[in-house]
Amino acid sequence: MSNHLSNRITNMSTSATLAMAAKARELRNSGKDIIGLSLGEPDFNIPDFIKDAAKQAVDDNYSSYSPVDGYADLKQSIANKFKRDNNLTYGLNQIVVSTGAKQSLANIAMCMLNKGDEVILPAPYWVSYSDIVKLAEGTPVEVPTSIDTDFKMTPAQLEAAITPNTKMMWFSSPCNPSGSVYSKEELEGLAEVLKKHPNIYVVSDEIYEHINFRGGHVSIAGIDGMYDRTITVNGVSKAFAMTGWRIGYIGAPESIAKACTKFQGQITSGANAIAQRATIAALDAPVSKIQFMIDEFHKRRDLILELLGEVEGFKLNVPEGAFYVFPDISDFFGKTLNGTTINTASDFSMYLLENANVATVTGEAFGNPNCIRISYAAAEKELREAISRIKAVL
Ligand code: PMP
Ligand code: GLU
Repeated sequence: MSNHLSNRITNMSTSATLAMAAKARELRNSGKDIIGLSLGEPDFNIPDFIKDAAKQAVDDNYSSYSPVDGYADLKQSIANKFKRDNNLTYGLNQIVVSTGAKQSLANIAMCMLNKGDEVILPAPYWVSYSDIVKLAEGTPVEVPTSIDTDFKMTPAQLEAAITPNTKMMWFSSPCNPSGSVYSKEELEGLAEVLKKHPNIYVVSDEIYEHINFRGGHVSIAGIDGMYDRTITVNGVSKAFAMTGWRIGYIGAPESIAKACTKFQGQITSGANAIAQRATIAALDAPVSKIQFMIDEFHKRRDLILELLGEVEGFKLNVPEGAFYVFPDISDFFGKTLNGTTINTASDFSMYLLENANVATVTGEAFGNPNCIRISYAAAEKELREAISRIKAVL
């Protein structure tokens, strides 16, 4: 029975976010009072108007296979959304609907990367990017950033990371895990470098676009010269609290959209029909319908910064979007707390889980070994309790 699994899966890491969430669930089931701040998942219920659209779709018998790339009217809603929110014009032949933005990203990697193609990942990056790239035999090239640049990659860093093998650059803004938001000027600076390298594509993961407290989300595809070489990724998991409904989508050059459809047609087919119908309602609605969630995240962001600001040894940036804080906790390395020596961010995260019953995720999983990620997609009461427990065990 040995070696019955492929090298592909043996070499893959387990998603650290999902692993920590599973561990927290397990501990909770065994009776421990765990506060879960590991998973990036809104704690709101899906707005009723979206639920109603799903119920209607069940009654209307949306039970057959959908077109592989998504229903045409959903793709029209996505095209309208791209125009309305991002001033991007995508035809229906440039849009592919998938089972979550995670599948959109996997489609892109499988359709665009050959063995050894390098993918620049400004670090910290979202946990799954590097394993998705590796699955497609690409080579992740991490560009470390630090709290000093608000965890953003500078044009000079991008330039220095480019080699003849560079195929793509993947990033998220607002960023998971740092909450950093690239301004128009910052994106223009990166685009200026890319202009000199016309064969490099960009994956712009904009799944947190609405959860942006500085306002004015900017899509890199809208910057001069970038449209034809950008794949814009988005989805409904975050802004509409629809994580379990599994709908993501891309806007891309037609040849890439076509390739993703071909690939998806062989592995999963069209995304869930009911969820696609509900997504039409979500995307057609004005952003004002979800503003209450964005306002609440903003309030919690301020609260958690205030509370963590009182914890000695935590260095924090001011995240301008998403729902995470990414404190640098390297001050604790080499220290012994209640008999446990902390040498790494993983040690620190485990220490918090075991001693404070608070689940976080180690920064190592996001390509930054000095930080941990704390999700503040949790009720205010839980956040207060969690930070007070963390303070007590430190
Ligand atoms: N990109 C980023 C940056 C994320 O945080 C997530 C969260 N799961 C995803 C993509 C994938 O989202 P989903 O598959 O739920 O659409
Ligand atoms: N994107 C979320 C996170 O980063 C959900 C978990 C996942 O899909 O990895 O926590």
